[in-house]
Amino acid sequence: MSEEFKPIAASEVTFSQLMLPSNTNFNGKIHGGYMLSLMDQIAFACASKHSENYCVTASVDTVDFKIPIEVGELVVMKASVNYVGNTSMIIGIRVEAENVRTGVKKHCNSSYFTMVAKDDNGKSVKVPGLIIDSETALRRFVKGAASMKLKQQRKIEFTASEFRKEDYLDELSEYRIQLKLNK
Ligand code: GDP
Repeated sequence: MSEEFKPIAASEVTFSQLMLPSNTNFNGKIHGGYMLSLMDQIAFACASKHSENYCVTASVDTVDFKIPIEVGELVVMKASVNYVGNTSMIIGIRVEAENVRTGVKKHCNSSYFTMVAKDDNGKSVKVPGLIIDSETALRRFVKGAASMKLKQQRKIEFTASEFRKEDYLDELSEYRIQLKLNK
């Protein structure tokens, strides 16, 4: 690791691609899996640039495909490092699609990939810290830190040893389930 703290701008990645008929699903819209694969690649590129190591995808937070992307649209993906932990980073990606004839752009989704830096032996390695130089970057960092904390709490709360069904029985009555616990 050459520097201890790096600016966000040093690892920003922007990528655009025209959507082709070969990328469509059975409805003629662009396949969600194809978009995910592009997003994973851009997250990988951004995280690897920041960490100066190859990275792996640890988790992905909410990719919703509510706004379909059409053949012939120009998809633009912008990625930057929002948060760094010890060996992990949250990479935010904003996906927009532009109608190239009208110039109209639509925001398709914003997703957050947690990536972990690895050395040549597959061991997780420490990543450089972040230089936060704008209020937007600060907001994104705080949001990333909060989401990491929440994830950690949920992980603990739902381990088999910590889970207490009594804490949930009241709220479970709103769901369409029949509880017949006999095991
Ligand atoms: P936000 O996370 O609440 O700011 O939601 P946005 O939809 O604006 O952006 C989603 C994520 O995409 C951000 O958290 C950034 O990581 C990334 N991003 C957004 N805009 C840009 C940009 O102009 N350039 C780059 N490189 N990344 C961006």
